[in-house]
Amino acid sequence: MMLRCTADLSDEAVRQLTRVGFWWSEQTPDLPHPRDYVDLKWNPTERQGVVHYLESAYHTPFVSCGWSWCRFGCQGWNGTRNLTDGTYLFPEGFVHYVRDHFVRPDEPFLDHVRALNLRMPELQLLPPYTREGVNHSKRVAPFEPAMQTRLSTWFRRFTNRSYQAVNPPARRPTSACS
Ligand SMILES: [Zn+2]
Repeated sequence: MMLRCTADLSDEAVRQLTRVGFWWSEQTPDLPHPRDYVDLKWNPTERQGVVHYLESAYHTPFVSCGWSWCRFGCQGWNGTRNLTDGTYLFPEGFVHYVRDHFVRPDEPFLDHVRALNLRMPELQLLPPYTREGVNHSKRVAPFEPAMQTRLSTWFRRFTNRSYQAVNPPARRPTSACS
């Protein structure tokens, strides 16, 4: 797993970030589905640059609740944390859609990334995580591991059930999914 730094952002600052890459679910029916953003003709160089940009993003200092799954039907989990570049807030799994499903983010986000020459800005950092995954910051209070396992098992069952109830499995995309 990639080691990430955590941006030193206040609760208020995180709330003010612009959200991108949050997708439809039964719990969030007003959000778009990523299939509407697939663009197979998107310039591959820029796409790679955006993938790299998203991979270089920072953790937010707050634990977000919930495991995400790929809306195109890939197996396994697609992230649980939210990431930021200091302006936007996006799920950890956003990069999977861009890299593996040719999902092209909306133009305001792309314009923002282009204006930065596709380079992740330097943000003020919190102290790094320990090997146990516990942040030194008092602002972060992660669940103890046993509780986290129970919660994620429950959430997995819950989201699988509600997702499959509403959306039959999508056709397998042509690209491989990691
Ligand atoms: Zn996928």
